[in-house]
Amino acid sequence: MTNTNPESQAAATPSNFLHDQIAEDVRTKKYGDAQIQTRFPPEPNGYLHIGHAKAICIDFGLADEFGGKTNLRFDDTNPGKEEQEYVDSIQADVRWLGFEWDRLCYASDYFGQLYEWAVQLIKAGKAYVDDLSADEIRQHRGTLTEPGQDSPYRTRSIEENLDLFTRMKAGEFPDGSRVLRAKIDMTSPNINMRDPVMYRILHATHQRTGDEWCIYPMYDYAHGQSDSLERVTHSMCTLEFTDHQPLYRWFIEQLGIFPTQQFEFDRLNLTYTLLSKRKLLQLVQEKRVNGWDDPRMPTLSGIRRRGFTPEALRAFVAASGVSRTNGSTDIEMLEHYQRDDLNRRARRAMAVLRPLKLVIDNYPEGPNQDQVEFFEVANNPEDASAGTRQVPFSRELFIEQDDFRETPPPKYHRLSPGKEVRLRNAYFVTAQRVAKDAAGNIVEVHCTYDPATRGGDAPDGRKVKSTIHWVSAAHAIGAEIRLYDRLFTKADPYDLEEGQDVLDNLNPNSIEIVTGAKLEPSLASAKLGEHLQFERVGYFCLDTDSTPAHLVFNRTLPLKDSWAKIEKKAGA
Ligand code: ATP
Ligand code: MG
Repeated sequence: MTNTNPESQAAATPSNFLHDQIAEDVRTKKYGDAQIQTRFPPEPNGYLHIGHAKAICIDFGLADEFGGKTNLRFDDTNPGKEEQEYVDSIQADVRWLGFEWDRLCYASDYFGQLYEWAVQLIKAGKAYVDDLSADEIRQHRGTLTEPGQDSPYRTRSIEENLDLFTRMKAGEFPDGSRVLRAKIDMTSPNINMRDPVMYRILHATHQRTGDEWCIYPMYDYAHGQSDSLERVTHSMCTLEFTDHQPLYRWFIEQLGIFPTQQFEFDRLNLTYTLLSKRKLLQLVQEKRVNGWDDPRMPTLSGIRRRGFTPEALRAFVAASGVSRTNGSTDIEMLEHYQRDDLNRRARRAMAVLRPLKLVIDNYPEGPNQDQVEFFEVANNPEDASAGTRQVPFSRELFIEQDDFRETPPPKYHRLSPGKEVRLRNAYFVTAQRVAKDAAGNIVEVHCTYDPATRGGDAPDGRKVKSTIHWVSAAHAIGAEIRLYDRLFTKADPYDLEEGQDVLDNLNPNSIEIVTGAKLEPSLASAKLGEHLQFERVGYFCLDTDSTPAHLVFNRTLPLKDSWAKIEKKAGA
């Protein structure tokens, strides 16, 4: 064990109630000399999303801090909804986020033990087989203000219960015909304690146990005992499980097994974002997006493909804190942490998304108008160790269409006839005239350059109001660029008119595909997973669809940071 002194911990992370609780339990040696044990328990019924990242950071982060261990446990009690694809993606995502589990566990590993414990509870008169239908069970359950009613089968003898449960397991009964229930209290003010179902009959092939079982434990019966079996000391989960805690404790007390303690924290909710596997699955199944890793998806695989980094995500989760009430976090805050991280690490390059030809009329022509010079440019002004590169410059360049106006509006400081601007890292140029096609569209801008401004400064101290980026036309490489906007149009996607579904709030313009972009040649060697800043345009990364013959880049984020503004407004 390392670094288990609670005093030294306090400085390491911002204090929160979970952290303080563990520090206290370490100090009082609540678990003797046993180490802190946590777990992250996803159900493999979808891909992990940004909300799960918070749970992962809490489960793994706190255990790490106190020298403890974390298991990755798949809560695989729902055959039919769960798939190996999800099991694999969840493992990859946890590792991507930067964590490594101690043991890889499955609730299905415990099916045998859970069954034995169910038999033990029946023998103790604490569980019974109920023949009521699911509907009838619901009707008997009562409401928040009315107590429930006992099932007529509640008083079955232990022998009859044992016989029926054994036959349930043996496959003698059809799905839905019987369940095993805990015998607790149908009048409990906590509905979870009103004889909850422990087992249901389901003739389904399980992805791991095959056809061995035709009865499966309910999550509420499996979860607490799985924690206990793994000797989880601190079982952390989201607030919706608070009312289930007394039930988990009840099972553990009846069985006399290791007393895991549960602690609840707030779910992460993000504006303009849906964090629900069920809804995300619907987006995938209805092909509203291109799969779980569509760069617009809030899944970890989606944001990874989009160019988000685990470092930024962890910093964001830490900064957004842990609380005991659910709230909503501005997506701009996540984007702020991501920009901050990318600003430090992204290699800079020049790329023109919507090209307009710029011809420098007084640039010396080689024998074939093909004179080229090279500018040595820093790969990352924030990081000298990133080195420099040679960027070719020639008589014909591409600039952004947006960086030229034949008739400039007020305060437009970029290129327009008679106006001088700086070509980034290169020369000052002054626009002279335009060339148009038959339809009157501008096809070329002609300009002159001042050779004395090489490198980007005028020896006479003359200033320009604007610097624009460019690429040499003869050297440019083509690419497809994918620009993303929010997936939902409303800050709260569940802000609905009557009769609407949350998917009605999908943003119809969440992706824009720009073909025919012109990139500086160094970008031909961009690698998957590499982070780039296209100067003045945003942060980018190569997409998994990219091939050497057809480059595809995703915009991770535009450069502008609106979070600082939001924070300032909130403070004012
Ligand atoms: P979803 O509602 O998206 O299906 P879930 O809670 O059903 O999520 P699980 O696979 O059961 O998904 O989640 C594993 C763990 O992640 C649980 O401990 C759960 O509390 C936690 N978790 C899920 N969503 C969030 C969230 N938005 N913020 C924080 N923790 C979350
Ligand atoms: Mg769940």
